Amino acid sequence: MDYKTSSISSQPVTAKVQVALWVVATPIGNLGDISRRAAKVLAEVDCIVAEDTRHSRTLLTSLAINKPMLSLHEHNEQQRIPQLLQKAAAGEVLALLSDAGTPLISDPGFKLVQAFHQAGWRVSPLPGPCAAIAALSVAGLPSSRFHFEGFLPARAKARQQRLQALSNCPDTLIFYESPKRLQASLQAMCDVFGEQRLACQCRELTKQFETVNLRPLGELLSLVSEDADQQRGEQVLLVAGAPEVAEGKVVDAAVRELYLELCTQLPPARAAAMLARHLDVSRNALYQLQLDQKKS
Ligand code: SAM
Repeated sequence: MDYKTSSISSQPVTAKVQVALWVVATPIGNLGDISRRAAKVLAEVDCIVAEDTRHSRTLLTSLAINKPMLSLHEHNEQQRIPQLLQKAAAGEVLALLSDAGTPLISDPGFKLVQAFHQAGWRVSPLPGPCAAIAALSVAGLPSSRFHFEGFLPARAKARQQRLQALSNCPDTLIFYESPKRLQASLQAMCDVFGEQRLACQCRELTKQFETVNLRPLGELLSLVSEDADQQRGEQVLLVAGAPEVAEGKVVDAAVRELYLELCTQLPPARAAAMLARHLDVSRNALYQLQLDQKKS
């Protein structure tokens, strides 16, 4: 049987071509979330390639699966590829797992998947849990368009710059965050996006202490600062996209701050007209800002 398929040509993959690499999503906290198909495939493959073999063994043991395993993490991915391609050439079928959720989503694996495509092997997904998508599904923020950012830089300046670059994005923003940086990131988001921007903290999804908090960034920061429990565990932060306003223009967070400050000295309509004359921003959009603030 020809196990290969031409990945770069436009030939469709047919059901006859055997999968060489399964990319398998695993639970993000609740072992019951493994799919029946994932369990079946994991029981059938020749070798399981896992980010952390000890970690994945817990899941495999719960499924009574005992297979040869190899590690693949950010420090050895490149070196592993030739060995895994050789296995595929010898007719072995492999499964790729990450510690939790969907491999390649803020996890290693893309170089391996690319190498398999380039070598003409069939790669197939076993879809399932992903913290970002699980969080989006319960956040109560617009979900038709979203920007997945993953982890922000750890250093304050780089984090601030990245947030600044995202401040006009109209799509819902999704961040992964470590518990120890949660507060600092929320503070930086308040500074850049403004305290009124709606956000959602999704903590410990599918686990015992699952929490979903939808509120303006400023309130979320207070909540997290006052209750240390809210800083524990795994966290996804979602932030509403920048408001798309009249004339298709988006008001930058810094311009927003400036306008609201001017409104303390001048009538809002005059402040809006003045700023619109000097900056590339709509007068109506500015005026709408103080109406929104009065409402909130
Ligand atoms: N590949 C994974 C996925 O599909 O979601 C993500 C891996 S990334 C290294 C780990 C991050 O995902 C955590 O730091 C946290 O931000 C998020 N995460 C994972 N499990 C979670 C859970 N149960 N609840 C909330 N966030 C979670």
